[in-house]
Amino acid sequence: MEISINRDRLLKNFLEYTAIDSESGNEAAMASRVAADLEALGCPVRTDETGNVTALFAGEAPALIMCAHMDTVAPGRGVRPVITDGVIHTDGSTVLGGDDKSGIAAIVEAIRTAKEAGLPHRTIEAVFTVREETGMTGSKALDYEKLSAKEAVVFDSGGDAGKIITAAPGQTKIRAEIKGVAAHAGVAPEKGVSAIQAGAAAISAMKLLRIDGETTANIGTFTAVGATNIVSPSAFIEAEARSRDNAKLEAQTKHMTECLENACRRFGAELDCRVSVSYKGYALPADDPLTAAVEQACRRLGIVPVTAASGGGSDANVLNAAGIKAVVLGTGMDKVHTTSERITVKNLEDTARIALELMTLRQQ
Ligand SMILES: [Zn+2]
Repeated sequence: MEISINRDRLLKNFLEYTAIDSESGNEAAMASRVAADLEALGCPVRTDETGNVTALFAGEAPALIMCAHMDTVAPGRGVRPVITDGVIHTDGSTVLGGDDKSGIAAIVEAIRTAKEAGLPHRTIEAVFTVREETGMTGSKALDYEKLSAKEAVVFDSGGDAGKIITAAPGQTKIRAEIKGVAAHAGVAPEKGVSAIQAGAAAISAMKLLRIDGETTANIGTFTAVGATNIVSPSAFIEAEARSRDNAKLEAQTKHMTECLENACRRFGAELDCRVSVSYKGYALPADDPLTAAVEQACRRLGIVPVTAASGGGSDANVLNAAGIKAVVLGTGMDKVHTTSERITVKNLEDTARIALELMTLRQQ
């Protein structure tokens, strides 16, 4: 029999969480509130140097990580949540921050419910990260030695409760400075090397935009400003590549840097090219047991599970890269990163039910 979530208490806590300012880099107030809530439930809590909060809800093996991020995008200060016909939104001046406080509220309420009901449960390592929105800085700084679970569910996706993200792209960034040679464009152009020409040649040789079903690439910046009577001595290019397949991501990144190298060599320009891996991609196999366990939990609750691939990164990319298998779950958060952000009370409740079901140990 399903133990029910206390919807009013869940909603009250969620609304209180959303009213706490926690834009990326300023999560301290949210962190101490979450830490206090978990300590009140008897969970040992640790806040690391970066500001991430981890709590242990000790139960039976195997342990499972439940993760959500504490930061919100801007404008996220002074959030005044409003409920209209079962939909939680704001007065329109800020985001709601249901991304990702819906995940935090659901996890905390599930632990509270399991604790109160004395349910046999898996060991849960609750991980609440900082600065997810600014490049997953928090999860990248987690001390993975201190986590024992090898599997994680990250409550941080749009789509109704029941959505399961099993694949997401990785991303690399390329920053290229091209140095040409300045010369008078009218008097002695042959003495110059045009950085603009080299850059343009490099870009026009690149395969860009949609590369294949799981790979994309794009130039975001191409700048070079100068006088028309000077052969352009410098240009700057910033580009990204994404793929859910890490080998394809590497190949596309290499292709783009080679285009830059070849063009610069051809024109006699100097190239300073920096490649950084923002995060790695992941794609769990179709028969993955973690996905199957989440699907089964949803079905037991009468929620239809839907698996999908994501176009963006999350803490799950970082966890997967750290050797902890992770999927991302929909919480019903909608129109995120806008002041029209909203979430239904039903999705909030269903997300907490799924969290509770995933931690509960059933008699076979
Ligand atoms: Zn998020």
